[in-house]
Amino acid sequence: MPREDYIATIGLEVHCQITANSKMFCGCRAAYGDDPNTNVCPVCLGLPGALPVLNKHAIEQTILAGMLLGCETPEVSRWDRKNYFYPDMPKNYQLTQLDVPLCLGGGVPLYDIAYPKDVQKGIANPGKVVKMNRIHLEEDVAKSTHFSNHSLIDYNRAGMPLMELVTEPDIDTADEAYAFLKSLQQILVYGGISDADMEKGQMRCDVNISVRPVGTAELRTKLEVKNLNSITAVRKSIEFEIQRQCDEYDEGIEQKQATIRWDDAIGETVVMRVKEDSADYRYFTEPDLLPVRTVELVAKMRSFVPELPHEKRERFVVDYGVSEYDAGVLTSEKALADYFEKAAEGSKVAKKVANWVINGLLGKLNETDVSVRDNPFPAGSLRALVDLVEAGTVTNKQAREVFDVIWESPDESPADVAKGLGFEPADQSAVEGIIDQVILDNPDKVEEIKGGNPRMVNWLTGQVMKASQGKANPKLVTDSISAKLGL
Ligand SMILES: [Zn+2]
Repeated sequence: MPREDYIATIGLEVHCQITANSKMFCGCRAAYGDDPNTNVCPVCLGLPGALPVLNKHAIEQTILAGMLLGCETPEVSRWDRKNYFYPDMPKNYQLTQLDVPLCLGGGVPLYDIAYPKDVQKGIANPGKVVKMNRIHLEEDVAKSTHFSNHSLIDYNRAGMPLMELVTEPDIDTADEAYAFLKSLQQILVYGGISDADMEKGQMRCDVNISVRPVGTAELRTKLEVKNLNSITAVRKSIEFEIQRQCDEYDEGIEQKQATIRWDDAIGETVVMRVKEDSADYRYFTEPDLLPVRTVELVAKMRSFVPELPHEKRERFVVDYGVSEYDAGVLTSEKALADYFEKAAEGSKVAKKVANWVINGLLGKLNETDVSVRDNPFPAGSLRALVDLVEAGTVTNKQAREVFDVIWESPDESPADVAKGLGFEPADQSAVEGIIDQVILDNPDKVEEIKGGNPRMVNWLTGQVMKASQGKANPKLVTDSISAKLGL
């Protein structure tokens, strides 16, 4: 059967580290890049008799994440032990939440701008909100690195606060999964909850995928792709896995429940282990931790709910007169939205500032592979540069040259740079003389304008620009011609 005759059902489990100073159940530093096994203590090493203490900040941030996604928080939330034996889990159990997590329900809106660039023009379900099942809080495991005949393990990561966000099986395509993760990242960064950087391992993703023929309701066996560490890998592995399952069903091969991994080098999924039964983790209630009463925490965190990307986007359209799409670009990263607002502050031409941010600044950032956060161009200088163009001191083309100089020397002022480059506004009285001459030389065009063809003003402007060797400011020239012709 062709692939169109199959429906895919996809669910995601996203692990996301919370930005925090200390670990989830002890006071050890929660930091990256420190020497291995230096941020450890009896609690996170699982030594006998050590008792866990809750990290209130991590609980609050998880509740906040739930608020941003429209989840409900039960009045009492509990802790459970998930038992399994593995070297990355020194206690041989993980402290997590099974029955009553901190957040239930909710959803993640898929922003248009969050889809892969190549599909943004043909989004199948614009405005879709992917239903969430829950968010619970748990501790991260240690990081193991395997070599051919030995393994290394770093317990610095063991016990770091980790949110697990679980969706309903509500995702239909690889592109939606991609948009889900990008949108979720945006929202978590806006909330200050996590940097959610997959490259730094702050966000990791497991994907559950099954396919079934169109017209059937019952879900078939799902396969789980574990530990994906880039959004592109999530998209590619889903594409591959859907095709693989469809092909095998066509050949009459049934799927066995299995854990698989994505091999980026060969671009294929590889089976790690076939599950005979679902794993028995012998969950039970954690005896060393009391349940958490959440009512006061929920009330407190309400005041920390920020303006979300889609809310900011709508406000930008109204406040700055930018298009829906441009507002989406400007709000795609919180740092960029903040930069734009700073640059547009007090500007009479905020829309032009937006154009410079999108076409000038973003282009330069991409070209030089610099992140928005490391952007050297001062927001005030961008506003000043746009003002110079508006005042007719420099043309757009000259402004680009000024931009490039300030990019390299951010402390210089646009006005000084323009002067240094010899971009003086043309002598207006000389330009006026040229305008008079052009009007005199082209009586037929003047007749056309007076006869109701205002577009000929542009033609006259072009003649003046030519005669002034590009030095005149086209906007001022057009204004002057219009005035002289009494338009
Ligand atoms: Zn510790």
